Amino acid sequence: MLVLVINCGSSSLKYQLLEMTTETLMAKGLVERIGNEGSVINHETIGKEKYVLTTPMEDHNAAIGHVMDAITHPEHGAIKELSEIKAVGHRVVHAGEKYANSIIINDDVIAALEECAELAPLHNPPNLAGVRACERLMPGVPNVGVFDTAFHQTMRPEAYLYAIPYEMYEKHRIRKYGFHGTSHKYMAIEAAEMLNIDVNDLKLITCHLGNGASVSAIKHGRSVETSMGFTPLEGLVMGTRCGDLDPSIVTLLAEKLGVGLDKVTDILNKESGVLGISGISSDFRDLEEAMEEGNKRAELALKIFAHRVRFYIGAYIAEMNGVDAIVFTGGIGENDAYMREVICANMGNLGIKLDKEKNKVRGKQTMLSADDSKVKIMLIPANEELVIARETDELVKKA
Ligand code: AMP
Repeated sequence: MLVLVINCGSSSLKYQLLEMTTETLMAKGLVERIGNEGSVINHETIGKEKYVLTTPMEDHNAAIGHVMDAITHPEHGAIKELSEIKAVGHRVVHAGEKYANSIIINDDVIAALEECAELAPLHNPPNLAGVRACERLMPGVPNVGVFDTAFHQTMRPEAYLYAIPYEMYEKHRIRKYGFHGTSHKYMAIEAAEMLNIDVNDLKLITCHLGNGASVSAIKHGRSVETSMGFTPLEGLVMGTRCGDLDPSIVTLLAEKLGVGLDKVTDILNKESGVLGISGISSDFRDLEEAMEEGNKRAELALKIFAHRVRFYIGAYIAEMNGVDAIVFTGGIGENDAYMREVICANMGNLGIKLDKEKNKVRGKQTMLSADDSKVKIMLIPANEELVIARETDELVKKA
């Protein structure tokens, strides 16, 4: 069965076409600058030359039209007819407390997700625009929603509630939701397979370290804690996001800088994190290069990042009364051997020992721990699209 996976951002769209009997990637691509000048689609059918088309695309509807043209292109395409696609899986960021699992989208689901839009104003509207465009352009083909928040719906109230008046939760749904759920779930499934142990018998700490970053504690296959919160701003220090912060700083900053709370939120989301500390870049490659050249603020930014990850690992070991494996993914988790080494350093007493030789690896599913490390350390490259395609395939087959 052929499944198209769509991940719509506000002005971009990533897609993959997969054949699910063998889980083979057939084509993939990226559309950028949707609704802006210079809209462009970069398409690649596996085994064929890449295809780039710059053409006006005023909205997601137009963008998805071009995705469909590229997929069925006589020269560059992967299939002859759109009717070969049996289902579309959509990444949807926020499902609030409504959905703990993926679901086939109908009008009721759309209405429920529209309600969640105020919880994710930047993400849910473009995600839904993608769903609507597919409904229009591929009538009768089922659309499945796979939610970033769903995997973390297993957290208990003591983990997900903030200590503010309870009515804030009841009236405004303010609680920890957690994000990157599809990625954390994929790490758990793959880690269990690599270890050849049932996921229900494992305690895992999964680290998704990219431009956005989060850590999760996964006990017996269920997310019991995660570092992102009501929004993806909480938790780890990130490329440009501050992560955990004393809330008093927000009002103090507004006062000191003479700006509104919107501007402060902007600073915390876009000008903070390792970029804010280093003053040079949000990219760990730039920071490590600068550190090697003696830049102390770049070094400090990297230290603060690692410190926060270690802080969460320690907390999650306490929460689960142990850990069997720590898993790394994301641009940093997959490629940055130096950062993995700093994060895993000096935890021998907890049974965590990285093998420095094995750690000299990038982007490959592999074991990084020393043979005598009680806790396994693993690298599992992210593949959220595959999880979305699997869940879409399963749901549509069952329907
Ligand atoms: P992501 O959001 O998962 O795509 O991760 C992007 C981030 O990964 C970049 O901003 C870099 O900080 C980091 N990254 C990617 N490649 C490398 C590398 N080779 N070494 C260190 N960091 C990397």
